[in-house]
Parts: sequence; structure tokens; C-alpha cells
Amino acid sequence: MYIMLTIILPTYNERDNLEELIRRIFRTLKGKGFEIIIVDDNSPDGTAEFAEELGKKYGKIIVVKRNKKLGISSAFLTGFLKSRGKYIILMDADLQHPPEKIPEIIDYLDKGYDLVIASRFLKKSRIYGLTFYRKLTSILISYFIRIFIPKIKVRDPLSGFFGVKREVIEHVHKRIKFKRGFKILIEILANSNNLKIKEIPFDFQKRKYGKSKVNNIVVIELIKQIIYYSEISRIIKFSLVGFIGTLVNLFFLLLLRSYGLEHFIASAIAIEISIMNNFLLNNYWTFSDRVNGKFLDKLIKYHILSSLSSIIQYVTSNIIFYFIYSNSIIAQIIGILLGYLINLLGSFKIVWKK
Ligand code: UDP
Ligand code: MG
Repeated sequence: MYIMLTIILPTYNERDNLEELIRRIFRTLKGKGFEIIIVDDNSPDGTAEFAEELGKKYGKIIVVKRNKKLGISSAFLTGFLKSRGKYIILMDADLQHPPEKIPEIIDYLDKGYDLVIASRFLKKSRIYGLTFYRKLTSILISYFIRIFIPKIKVRDPLSGFFGVKREVIEHVHKRIKFKRGFKILIEILANSNNLKIKEIPFDFQKRKYGKSKVNNIVVIELIKQIIYYSEISRIIKFSLVGFIGTLVNLFFLLLLRSYGLEHFIASAIAIEISIMNNFLLNNYWTFSDRVNGKFLDKLIKYHILSSLSSIIQYVTSNIIFYFIYSNSIIAQIIGILLGYLINLLGSFKIVWKK
């Protein structure tokens, strides 16, 4: 029988969720050629054995048993190597990803998209299954990923629910670096070029039974992934420029003072020189490969950004000093850090935007 679709379900202790999931997949995909590959991480609750029983009852189910908890990314790859489908779908086995979305994913793949992501962060998406804290961190991390890995432009690069054409994975699976984590989608996005991508909204549900398996390894793998694929060297250059700018600023301040200039004039000139210094170094070194935009436009934008970050630095420092903790150095350092962050984001996203 022709297999259009392989659904990969990584499981670790999902025994109680499995039957409902399988039932709903079969109901949704009635009449379609598909197979389900359950990749189990040696669940102590007997998920694998139960999956085999379901296989006998429903058919179309392949169970792969692994001998330890190896995470979702490697489960996806293991499942892929056993798969026969033209399209591959990854989803959680805990009912957070409603299988009723699968036909829409297939439709878009049929229309020619290479990758269809069920996204938690589109306007029409609803999130029922995340705590406030996890939702916030996911949104912030996704935002950071978009800024610092410019190749990744999707709203929800952390999604674990997507469909992809077989060729895409054939092309990337040998290049995949971080296999112990959960975020295989980042690997796919960072390692392929010119993918035609569609994001569709969906309602992220509450976990029915059991609990989340996110742990420290998952978080550390994610940080490693972001550093590896991000523009970390550019951030280092940018920070170095900021540091040099501070020295230049102080040097000119002292120089002009030694010629007898008033502090309020010397300080203003020194600031302007340091802004110019930073602008030129960033333009011709940090962002030398981003050659879009007129020189003058960028220069003006950078001045506005620098003023804004100085104001933020000043206000933060004063709020901290007068209302939170009256220590000048600490207040100033926090102000500097926040100002630096605003400058960094503005430079990457606006002045030297890709
Ligand atoms: N999972 C797995 N191996 C692991 C951790 C998780 O197969 O080492 C499975 C888990 O059973 C579930 C899916 O991966 O089907 C997503 O995991 P979880 O729901 O814990 O992650 P979250 O949704 O909280 O990010
Ligand atoms: Mg889950």
C-alpha cells in the first residue's frame, strides 16, 4: 500500500494518552495511506507494550523500542530512518497537539510547501496547556532565535508539531548536530536553505495525563543550539566595539578637558565622538557583510538609537537608585546593561537589519 504519510510519536510514559491519540488519528485520517511510528524511550509505565497491543488492534503501527531516555530530536531521526512516508509529521503523544490538524498540514504539503509548522504563537493560536512562565519563556526564546539566527524567521521555532517533506529530512539528517534535545525544528530550519514554509495556528491543549519531561538537559541543549547557530561572534564584535567606544569617550573627555574646555562641552563632544566611533566600527566590521541601506540613513538611525539607549540607561539607573537599591555603582551598571541591550537589539533589528 502506498504510504503518503508517516507520523512519528516519541513517547516516554504516555501509556494513558496513547489510545485516545491513536483513535483520533485513525478517525481523522480514514482512507488515507499512513503509518505511525512510536519511538519509545524504555518507558517504565509500559507504553511500548501497550503500543504493540494497539498495533495489533489497529494495524499501521510500528513500535521502536530504545533502551533509554534519549529525547525527542533523536526519536524523530530514529523514526525517520524507519519511515516510508512521502511526508513526515512529528507530534507529541500527550494530546497537546490535536491530530485533527493533520489534514490541514497535508493540504499545505500537497500545495507545495516543504515544511508546515503548527504554531503556538500566531494570532489565531490558543494556548491552553502552558503555564504563564513557560509561555513567556517560549515567546522570549523564540524572539531571541529570530533576532540572532536570522535564517530562522518563523514565529514558533520551538514547536514540536510539524509536517515536512521527506526530501527535506533526507537532505539535513546527516548535518543535525544536537540530537539530545527536543528542538529538532531548529536543526531543520538552521540546516536547510530556501524552504517554502507555512505556519498554521492551532490550539495547544493541556496535557491529558502524566507530566512534562522537559528537564535541564533539554534547556542546556537548547542554549547550545542557539549559541551554535546564532550570530554569537557578531555579538562579541558588537560588545567589543561598545567597550572600545567607552575608552574613546573617556580619552577625548580627558583630552578636551586638558585644553581647558568646560565639562558640559567636553562631555558632549566626547559622547558624539564615541557614537561615531561605534557607528563606523560596527558598520565596517561588525556588520560589514550587511550592505543594505544608505550610509546616512544608518548614521541617523544609530544616533536616535544611541540617544534612546542613553535615556533608558539614565532613567533605569535613577529608578533603581531612588526606589529600589541606593547604590550608585549597581544602579549605574544595571542601567548600562539595559542600555547596551537596547542598543544591541536596535542595531541588529533596525540599523543593520538583514
Ligand atoms: N518524550 C520522549 N523522550 C524524552 C522526553 C519526552 O519520547 O526523553 C516524548 C513525550 O512522551 C511526549 C513528547 O516527547 O510525547 C513531548 O514531551 P513533553 O510533553 O514532556 O514535552 P513538552 O510538551 O512539555 O515540551
Ligand atoms: Mg507535551
